[in-house]
Amino acid sequence: SQIMSRGLPKQKPIEGVKQVIVVASGKGGVGKSTTAVNLALALAANDSSKAVGLLDVDVYGPSIPKMMNLKGNPELSQSNLMRPLLNYGIACMSMGFLVEETAPLVWRGLMVMSAIEKLLRQVDWGQLDYLVVDMPPGTGDVQLSVSQNVPISGAVIVSTPQDIALMDAHKGAEMFRKVHVPVLGLVQNMSVFQCPKCKHKTHIFGADGARRLARTLDLDILGDIPLHLNIREASDTGQPIVFSQPESDEAKAYLRIATEV
Ligand code: ADP
Repeated sequence: SQIMSRGLPKQKPIEGVKQVIVVASGKGGVGKSTTAVNLALALAANDSSKAVGLLDVDVYGPSIPKMMNLKGNPELSQSNLMRPLLNYGIACMSMGFLVEETAPLVWRGLMVMSAIEKLLRQVDWGQLDYLVVDMPPGTGDVQLSVSQNVPISGAVIVSTPQDIALMDAHKGAEMFRKVHVPVLGLVQNMSVFQCPKCKHKTHIFGADGARRLARTLDLDILGDIPLHLNIREASDTGQPIVFSQPESDEAKAYLRIATEV
């Protein structure tokens, strides 16, 4: 549309950053942040010569600080830019570093947008090959604003195989197409749970919904991540699975996805 295309010439690269990859989802709770964190670690693990950063613009519910076991206030550089915090070799920036963990994020409109502007433009990333961006869920102002202001190499869309999640993932894919962001593909998360005792497999949220959606939208499936206790525990303890159990099948699923982006 007119409005969309008028937004595009404003696009300005993030200084020092070669490729921006956004991780998005239609709904909350489908594993978007978990995917963003493990994708960042996997990109770095697959090629140690690559510098990788992680930017959490999920301003209403930042989860990167906990998942990456980081807290504190970013220092300012000489040119008054915020220095990312570093863990497991990944440079991280999050709204969670700028506000109290328990402070309710009740900002609206302009306040959220100025926070986004800060996170996009006032961070000293140094030189990065990849910046993985953890988007908020859905297709709101933040997603649109990020997509219109920064050149994005591609979007990874995370969904469970459940209909309601897929419907929203579909909307997400359409939004990126409208603003000319290439959709790299879908990650189907929590597709299967295997009982650790009897090895029986259960498709708790459905078996292959994301595959069907991928066919409808003519998109690739970048990977399938099982519903697994180790993934949840690793995230909650701030030791993401790609870092803490790189030899596990679950970590390998993320490492494979990183070769596709
Ligand atoms: P979102 O960013 O979409 O809101 P999260 O990444 O925060 O979702 O994941 C929601 C919850 O589900 C978290 O507790 C996370 O640890 C857990 N989780 C995500 N993916 C998996 C998985 N494949 N297996 C087990 N738990 C998962």
